[in-house]
Amino acid sequence: MFTKMTDDIYKLVVQFPFGMGNVNSYLIEGTNGYTVIDTGTNQQEAIDIWEEVLKSGIKVEKVVLTHTHEDHIGLARWFQEVVGVPVIVSKEGLEVMERRRNLSLEQFNQLIKKYGGDELSKGSRGEISIFDFTPDELFEETQPIKLGDYLYETIWTPGHAEDQYCFYNQEKGTMIVGDHVLKEVSPVIGLWSGVEFNPLKDYFSSLDKVENYLPKISLPGHGEPIFDLQQRVVEIREKHQYRLEQIYHMVENEPKTVTQVCEEIYGENYQISAFMAIITRFIYLEDIGHVERRVMEGEINFLAIEK
Ligand SMILES: [Zn+2]
Repeated sequence: MFTKMTDDIYKLVVQFPFGMGNVNSYLIEGTNGYTVIDTGTNQQEAIDIWEEVLKSGIKVEKVVLTHTHEDHIGLARWFQEVVGVPVIVSKEGLEVMERRRNLSLEQFNQLIKKYGGDELSKGSRGEISIFDFTPDELFEETQPIKLGDYLYETIWTPGHAEDQYCFYNQEKGTMIVGDHVLKEVSPVIGLWSGVEFNPLKDYFSSLDKVENYLPKISLPGHGEPIFDLQQRVVEIREKHQYRLEQIYHMVENEPKTVTQVCEEIYGENYQISAFMAIITRFIYLEDIGHVERRVMEGEINFLAIEK
């Protein structure tokens, strides 16, 4: 069930139903029990996995979240209420939780529709109730956090999520990276909390922020561990630059909607995450003065400005 990652950290892969992917939880051994990093989604399959873990005699000391996306926070409330262990969230995470509790599907769909996308149906986003609890403790960037028996530096790395944090222990050479840097894919940069801003700009700054750390092992929220974080940061940055260039050229001669660009790149059956990634790229290009938006027949189009 567990894969040993370091001398005191174990990985537990928590599956989503219907083979729709999975999330990594990490269990960090300590004198008072295990610190659990991230929980999986609020679904029976995930609860079954955790019940089995607890039945095996594993004692959980506390739960700490890297960020509050559904697949990471999903069972935090269950851990607090049913298992009876404290849940620790960042100061920024609490703000996002409060916003998500009040964000209706209609409001979220308004944002999607504004960019010409298809409305999401009920049930395609997690239940609001997963955000409806009070964390037992908050942490912020200026404070180290104890995970297992060791103190970790807390590094705020907004971009993939506004409240995304990495945790780093220099002595051990270990970094928990959440979804900031993934090995197999480039993390999606989207507008998931219904607020419009420029998350890709934040993401680039957050890549710069972790680039000077040289962990021996980085443990991400999905997929396999990363042994050369610096190299992976360079690859992800290059991939974004490639996509930015690509969409810039796609609107060089005529204005296009996000949907049009999305279909040209990914085909007709693109995912909402691809749609979001195109929106945030256009917002980034607009911010640096490379494209402008034009509202045509009520829809937002983007057009390149000559460089
Ligand atoms: Zn995730």
